[in-house]
Amino acid sequence: MIYLDHAASTPCAPEVLDAMLPYFGASFGNASSLYSLGRQSRKAVEVARELAAAFLGCRPQEILFTSGGSESDNLALRGVLWALRDRGGHLITTAVEHHAVLHAARALANQGFEVSLLQPDRLGRITAAQVEEAITPRTTLISVMHGNNEVGTLQPVEEIGRLAQERGILFHTDAVQTAGHLPLAVRDLPCDLLSLSAHKLYGPQGIGLLYRRGGVPLVSQIAGGDQEFNLRAGTENVPGIVGLGKALELAFAAMQQGEPERLRGLRHRLIAGVLASVPGAELTGHPTLRLPNHASFRFPGIEGEPLLLNLDMRGICGSSGAACATGEIEPSHVLLAMGYTRAEAHGALRLTLGRHSTAAEVERVLAVLPPLVKSLRNLATA
Ligand SMILES: *Cc1c(COP(=O)(O)O)cnc(C)c1O
Repeated sequence: MIYLDHAASTPCAPEVLDAMLPYFGASFGNASSLYSLGRQSRKAVEVARELAAAFLGCRPQEILFTSGGSESDNLALRGVLWALRDRGGHLITTAVEHHAVLHAARALANQGFEVSLLQPDRLGRITAAQVEEAITPRTTLISVMHGNNEVGTLQPVEEIGRLAQERGILFHTDAVQTAGHLPLAVRDLPCDLLSLSAHKLYGPQGIGLLYRRGGVPLVSQIAGGDQEFNLRAGTENVPGIVGLGKALELAFAAMQQGEPERLRGLRHRLIAGVLASVPGAELTGHPTLRLPNHASFRFPGIEGEPLLLNLDMRGICGSSGAACATGEIEPSHVLLAMGYTRAEAHGALRLTLGRHSTAAEVERVLAVLPPLVKSLRNLATA
């Protein structure tokens, strides 16, 4: 099998699994319990928090563990807007965000908050100037994602972060797709809140974190115990947290060893090969300002779903855009926001490389894809 859907999820690294296993077994104590079994769990959680803090270059107490990227995004948006509702209630975000941000923003709008949705250009980019223009005296939060999951486009988050800082407005970025691919030290990427998810970086599903710069006001979204500095109730997912810590440690090492450059090379070959061998193929998203592992295309004249099913029959896993959008026939909200028509937004294919991807796999895709697109087009016109 050739797995090219790392933007949807990644295989759990064996080292991560090994690190987690004891906490599914003998070390099952509740991290809040005072006897030694509980203290073992507490210690494991705090070690993972230190690993996460080292990854982001922040203090351990600035890390909040959550159930994943979606919860982190929700906590950031709802948490800040409700905490600062007296200072105004204006949120600036973009039309290309993950649904976790977009739908949280929609819910806030339904609750009476004001939401500005910035529209990207044809390559999926938002500019700092657009953000600046949308700022009002009531703006309390700006949320712009780092790397787009569907089209790979990177946003100028450093520039937007500096702008927010100058204006005294809080800035959140969803960095779920960039973690492990781009440096994320919060001293270089000025932000107040940042979302990460373990299963996008070779950790387990169902665990993530929210970086919250010290002092940033948040209203907890889950009522209950006083875990996670009273900001996220619920018994800690100790195995998951340990797995996330290990995954971040491994991701940092892989970055040091040049994994992003290796992926960039494979991706370059994949994109150049597809554009050269499939007539009419178009790269969606930005050609250079994009995630190192991310290739996304549009093939006019065919539908995405039969293409995916046929690739699957040949042992190749790809995606038509977002994992949650497959099964639905709805075209990608990201491509629509970028100005593609509904008809144009069908026929999309996303191939995202990962740690186990090889040059031979890329060549195999380049051998399979062109004749497949051709035969699907013939069927469509027959
Ligand atoms: C996957 C993803 C999320 C959601 O993360 P989960 O851990 O699956 O909830 C949020 N944002 C982006 C950009 C993602 O790719």
